[in-house]
Amino acid sequence: MSQFKVALAGNPNSGKSTVFNALTGSKQIVGNWAGVTVEKKTGSFSVEGSEFNVIDLPGIYSLSSYSIDEQIARDFLLSENPDIVVAVVDASNLERNLYFVSQLLEMGNRVVIALNMIDVALERNIRINSMMLSKLLKLPVVKMVANQEHGVKKLKKVIAESAHADKNILRIDYGNEVEEVLKKLSIEFDMNSLEDRFYIIRALEGDEFFLDMFGNKNKELLLSETNSLSQILDDDLDEFLIEKRYGYIHGLVKKVLHRTDDIHSKIDFSDKIDRFVTNRFLGIPLFFFVMWAVFQIVFTVGAPVSDIVGSIFDGIAGILRNFLAGHTPELFISFLTDGIIGGLGAILVFVPNIFILFMAISILEDSGYMARAAFVMDKFMSMFGLHGKSFIPMILGFGCSIPGIMAARTLESRKDRILTILVLPLMSCSARFPIYTLFVGIFFKNYRGSIVFSLYLIGIVLAIIMARLFKSMFFKDENTPLIMELPPYHLPNWKLITRYSWYRTSMFIKKAGTVILGGVLVIWLLASLPAGIEYGSENSFIGMLGNIIAPIFKPAGFGFWQASVSLLFGIMAKEVVVGTLGTLYGSFPGGVNAAIANVFNPISAYSFMLMSLIYVPCIAAISAIKQEIGWKWALFNVIYTLFLGWGIAVIFYQVAMILIK
Ligand code: GDP
Ligand code: MG
Repeated sequence: MSQFKVALAGNPNSGKSTVFNALTGSKQIVGNWAGVTVEKKTGSFSVEGSEFNVIDLPGIYSLSSYSIDEQIARDFLLSENPDIVVAVVDASNLERNLYFVSQLLEMGNRVVIALNMIDVALERNIRINSMMLSKLLKLPVVKMVANQEHGVKKLKKVIAESAHADKNILRIDYGNEVEEVLKKLSIEFDMNSLEDRFYIIRALEGDEFFLDMFGNKNKELLLSETNSLSQILDDDLDEFLIEKRYGYIHGLVKKVLHRTDDIHSKIDFSDKIDRFVTNRFLGIPLFFFVMWAVFQIVFTVGAPVSDIVGSIFDGIAGILRNFLAGHTPELFISFLTDGIIGGLGAILVFVPNIFILFMAISILEDSGYMARAAFVMDKFMSMFGLHGKSFIPMILGFGCSIPGIMAARTLESRKDRILTILVLPLMSCSARFPIYTLFVGIFFKNYRGSIVFSLYLIGIVLAIIMARLFKSMFFKDENTPLIMELPPYHLPNWKLITRYSWYRTSMFIKKAGTVILGGVLVIWLLASLPAGIEYGSENSFIGMLGNIIAPIFKPAGFGFWQASVSLLFGIMAKEVVVGTLGTLYGSFPGGVNAAIANVFNPISAYSFMLMSLIYVPCIAAISAIKQEIGWKWALFNVIYTLFLGWGIAVIFYQVAMILIK
C-alpha cells in the first residue's frame, strides 16, 4: 500500500481542525511537537488503496518566522516535504487566506485548496467562482462546509488524485528592479529552480531563517542587495514585496469573488475607486479618456517649452553661420549648421514633451492606475486572443519597444509571448513622437493632442486586430485565464517618478547624441556628395537613392525623395526620420517647417504619420525581437509591418482625397 504525507495548513480558525477530524475520523493521535508544547495531531485515511497520513499544522498567517507556530509550520513544510499540502481557506475571508496559499505555492508545494466555510460566505452574500479559482491557480479547489461534513468525500478523492500530479509553482512578478536582482543572484548562487527563487526572495526579505541557509559570504551580498533595493524603491523591500503579493491576490480575488449585496459590505478606499475605474462599462472609455488627457497635457504644457528650445537651436545655428561666413568653407558651415545642429535640434526640441509624457506614464503606473487599465483591458484583449497581461509590455512600448519586448517575458506561454512581441512595435514609442509632433505642429495646430492621440489609438487598435489575425493564423488553441496584479492605490512618489522620467528622457537624449547623430551625419554626407552639387538637391547621392524609392509612396501622397529617404534611414532609429528632414530641409528658406508646409498637405501629413507609426520597427527593436523569439519572427515582423504601413497609408490617402473632393 503506497503511503503519502498530507499536511493541513491554513490561517487560524479557517476550520483546519474540523477538516482534519472529518478526514481522519477517529484514527487520531495527539501529541506535542518535539521540544515545544504545541499540540501535534496526526491521523490517517485511505482511498483507492493508498494511505494518507495527515498532520494538522498550527494555524498561521504567513511563512515568516515571527511566532513559534509559524516556525513549526514552516520547518515542517521545508524539512518534511509533504506530498500534498491541503490549504484550508476560509471562503468568507478570501483575500487574507489566499496570501498564505500564495506563499505555499511560491515555495513549490503541491497544493489542494479546501475552500471551507462556504455557508458563512453565502450568508455574507459572497459568491466564489471555485472553477475560476482552480483554473487561475492551476490546482484543485474543493468547496466545503467542514463542520457539516460537506465536501469531505470529494476532498479525499481530490487528494488521492493529486498525489501524483505535477507540482505547480507560483511565480509572482515582483517588478523590474527586484526581478533583475533575483536574476543576478540566481546566477551568482547557481540556483535556478523556482523553489530556489523563493529562497532568495525570502532571504532578500530579511528572513533570518532563509538568510542563514546561504552562508556568511552570500548573506552579506544578500543584505547589501536588500539595502540597495530598498533605496532604489524608496520603500522597505519586505513591505514592497508584501504589497506586490497582495496586489497579485487582490487581482485574483477580483476575478473569482462576487458580492451579491453591495450596500452592506465593507469596502476600503481602493475598492471604492475600483468600483468606478474597473467598472464593466466605464473602465475602457475611462482608460481612453485618461490617455487622451495625457496627450492634451503633454502638448499644452510642453509646446511653449519646445518652442523655446527650438529657437535656441535656430539661434545657435544662425550665430554660428554669421560668425563663420566668409572665412570658412561653405561645406564646413553647412556641416555644422545643417548637419549637426539642424539634425540634432530637430530631435531635441521634443525633449520637454517627452519628459512630460514619461512623467504622466510614470504617475499612472505608480499610482496603481495602469494595473487597473490592464485589468479592464484584459477582457477586451482576450476577445482578440491576447492576455490582459500583454497590455503591460504594450504600455511599456509607449516608451520604447525594447523594454516592452523584454517585458513580454512575464507572459507564461510562448504563444502569448510571440503574439505580444509581434504586435508590440505598433505601439507608438517615444521615437515616433517627434515625427508626430513635427507634423501636427505644422498642419494641426489646434488639434495637436487629439491628432497624436488618434495615432496612439490606431496603434493600439491595429495591434489588437493583428494579434487576432496572427492568433488565428498561427496558434489556434484556447486561452487560459490569468491573474492581473492589482496593487492598492497610493499617492505617487514624486522622487521616484522624477528620477524615472528623467532616466528615460536622458536615454532618449543619449540616443540622440549617438545613433541619431551618426545617422544624421551619414545623411548630411550623402546629401553633400558628389562634389560640386547643391546641398540636399536631387543630384546628391541621397537624392538619387530617394528618387528610386519615391514612386512607391506616390499613392500614399508623399512620393518625393526626401520623404522616402527619411523613412529609409528612420529604420536606424525612428527619430532619424525627423533628423533627416531637418538635415535635408534645414537650409530651405524658413527652415524645416516651411519646407514641410510646402511639400505636404494635412492629408499626406497624416498619411506619412501613419506610415511612420506602422512601418518596420527600428534596428534595435528588430534585434530585440530576434533575441527573444528568433530571427524568423523578426523577419516576419519587418515584412508584415512594411506592407501594413504602406497599405494603410495608401488607403487613408486615397479615401481622404476622394472624400474632400
Ligand atoms: P482551526 O483554528 O483552523 O483549527 O479551526 P477549527 O477547526 O477549530 O474551526 C473554528 C470554528 O469554525 C469551529 O467552531 C468550527 O466548528 C467552525 N467551522 C469549521 N468549519 C466550518 C464551516 O464550514 N462552516 C461553519 N459555519 N463553521 C465551521
Ligand atoms: Mg485548530
